[in-house]
Amino acid sequence: MTSRSGRHFLQIPGPTNVPDRVLSAIAIPTIDHRGPEFADLTLDLLERLKPVFQTSGPVVVYPSSGTGAWEAALVNTLSPGDRVLAFETGHFSTLWRGMAEKLGLVVDFVPGDWRHGVDPRIVEQRLAEDNRHAIAAVMVVHNETATGVTSRVPEIRLAIDDAGHPALLLVDTISSLASIDYRHEEWGVDVTVSCSQKGLMLPPGLGFNAVSEKALAAADRARLPRSYWDWSPILDANRKGFYPYTPATNLLYGLREALLMLEEEGLPAVFARHDRQAEATRRAVRGWGLEVLCADEREYSSSLTAVLLPEQYDADKVRQIILERFDMSLGTGLGRLAGRVFRIGHLGHFNDLTLVGTLGGVEMGLAAAGVPVRRGGVDAALAYLETLSDGAR
Ligand code: PLP
Repeated sequence: MTSRSGRHFLQIPGPTNVPDRVLSAIAIPTIDHRGPEFADLTLDLLERLKPVFQTSGPVVVYPSSGTGAWEAALVNTLSPGDRVLAFETGHFSTLWRGMAEKLGLVVDFVPGDWRHGVDPRIVEQRLAEDNRHAIAAVMVVHNETATGVTSRVPEIRLAIDDAGHPALLLVDTISSLASIDYRHEEWGVDVTVSCSQKGLMLPPGLGFNAVSEKALAAADRARLPRSYWDWSPILDANRKGFYPYTPATNLLYGLREALLMLEEEGLPAVFARHDRQAEATRRAVRGWGLEVLCADEREYSSSLTAVLLPEQYDADKVRQIILERFDMSLGTGLGRLAGRVFRIGHLGHFNDLTLVGTLGGVEMGLAAAGVPVRRGGVDAALAYLETLSDGAR
């Protein structure tokens, strides 16, 4: 291992940089998870989590990655052989579809080009055609982390309502929660899936399901086998501040600190910060003469930007050079985008100067890799950031 000075730049779209405050909060002695101190922690946390999901309903917290929270959403609400409607927006929606099939669901998978989000018109059309209401749920990835495309959940909700269809709406907010405006209750979402290692600024290890009344009623009827993921014993134990198994106590300490930080900044300011830094990133990409993968400006992601390289250049080679020379990790191209894109994560514990450093590393790395880019991407970002800095807000 070569010794490096200064901090590593972890600019993948999750796991994200964990603030020192959160690291310190985690590094305290573990307590009895069946004692009164733990109950106080849980009861407080479960309330503080609700505004982040913009819900007044329960949020189930698992010691799991996001994949576990995906599974929980499906097994709690659906039965073997149920039809679900899903959309090929990228790598993660494809993985979630694969999981649904393995669990015994029948997936209507609408093909996509990995440059667009879910088309609400197709949602309405597919549901309107389903006049026997065979489709039990619509599965949507809010922010496709593989592509940097954010689907328009309020329009999807409207499409379901316009079709007069009773399907549940299940939404993955793994790379959008606490970074991009998201409203579980107002948008009529039934299960919101998320996890700890992105906008919540924690290490990996916590999964979340925010659950509507309609989803709770569906859980009473659902027959997919479930045990560890079953909401019911967890919600019962949560009423007194406990879990039916050993929870990830120290991550919960970290979660409390992260939620305090989000409260201090205020969610509207958090979203505005992500929007602005994402816009600065796109200006840099265009300044280099490169293309943002997301093809519809209404769907630009505020938490990451996927940058498309000219055909003959290998994005992983660029990433490798940037890692070796500048000690910065960027996101790799996933699935069919392998080698074609690299992804810049600009979410979580992040500020203007972190962005400037990140873009500086990318500009130098592109030049070092021999990609024919114009200089001036960083300048374009600086000019935009100068107009209203975080501090001036
Ligand atoms: N969904 C999305 C949108 C993701 O970005 C990820 C991971 O990055 C997952 C699901 C899977 O989460 P995990 O890797 O924590 O299991």
